[in-house]
Amino acid sequence: MEELLNQLYEQNVLTKEEIIYFLQHLTPDLTKRLFRLAEETRKKHYDENVFLRGLIEFSNFCKQDCMYCGLRRSNSNVERYRLSEEEILECAAEGYHLGYRSFVLQSGEDFRFTEDLMIQIVRSLKLRFPDAAITLSIGERSEAFFRALFAAGTDRYLLRHETASRSLYESLHPGMSYGNRMNCLHTLREIGYQVGTGFMVGLPGQTYSHLAEDLLFLKEFHPEMIGIGPFIPHSATPLKDAVGGTVQDTLVMIAMARLLVPDALMPATTAMGTLDPIGREKALSAGANVVMPILSPLKVRKKYALYENKICMGDEPSHCRNCIELRIAASGYKIELSRGDHCNFTRTT
Ligand code: SAM
Repeated sequence: MEELLNQLYEQNVLTKEEIIYFLQHLTPDLTKRLFRLAEETRKKHYDENVFLRGLIEFSNFCKQDCMYCGLRRSNSNVERYRLSEEEILECAAEGYHLGYRSFVLQSGEDFRFTEDLMIQIVRSLKLRFPDAAITLSIGERSEAFFRALFAAGTDRYLLRHETASRSLYESLHPGMSYGNRMNCLHTLREIGYQVGTGFMVGLPGQTYSHLAEDLLFLKEFHPEMIGIGPFIPHSATPLKDAVGGTVQDTLVMIAMARLLVPDALMPATTAMGTLDPIGREKALSAGANVVMPILSPLKVRKKYALYENKICMGDEPSHCRNCIELRIAASGYKIELSRGDHCNFTRTT
């Protein structure tokens, strides 16, 4: 085990069998050292900085029916909403005023936000906030759409692979294809986006072998951003009775991902903060280095419920900004409000 941990830290590689063995034999003491080495590794690339991204959840309409997600189209309990272009710009303006220079626009797969409308939104944001980075997290679209939005000025795209096992993926995503998800990720990369991917921990049926495949996919794809969070069962989904992921198991995955892809930007997710009041701080101490406070208007916050009891539902953006700043400082890190590009990134087109 010592040797495997050293190899992970020094060479940033493990085989699938080694990862499975490592996960099966992890002791509390080794886990502590794993977290410490992950934290050290992140500091080598990004110092003590924690990058802030303002998250704007602009639509909870979704044409997909993912078994785990509260926004799935079959959930008729959801009160659906869409923000107007003006409302999105207002959220960004409030965030910009609070110092944010990086915005993430997230939604379900809502095709009412057509290519033309998304281009208009991105162009308006870029015109008003030229020094801010724009990230989209709006699901699978066509290659032409991805190209047009990149040309309009979008900097980054987040599309978690969710699980790198084709059979597990297809059992959780009726009507969707693992191949298409992977094609989208490769297309985004080829176009020149900074790409984010990642997975959930604690999905029903997920084994160490699946988790090893997730980690090895990250290693091979080498995304600029990696989002790993616990699966939290939602009562209005077919997985309502599932056990869900734990903070501890997720921390182990974050730390291993940090060691396998040392230069990635990795969020301490809201899902971690939902399961544990200091879940995000724990993630920062296990290798994460990004936090994404919510900028969406208070009137729609509760409606964007991928899972229940999500934190920060009633907090004004300025309150979130202060709360996060205090939490980051208390953990011994420094908030960083610049665009927060990947350490090796330069846009060429
Ligand atoms: N529709 C876009 C997409 O597919 O990428 C972005 C929005 S989607 C709701 C954002 C992420 O939420 C998903 O990639 C998934 O990993 C996560 N998510 C959804 N339901 C969840 C749950 N019950 N527990 C934890 N994470 C969840």
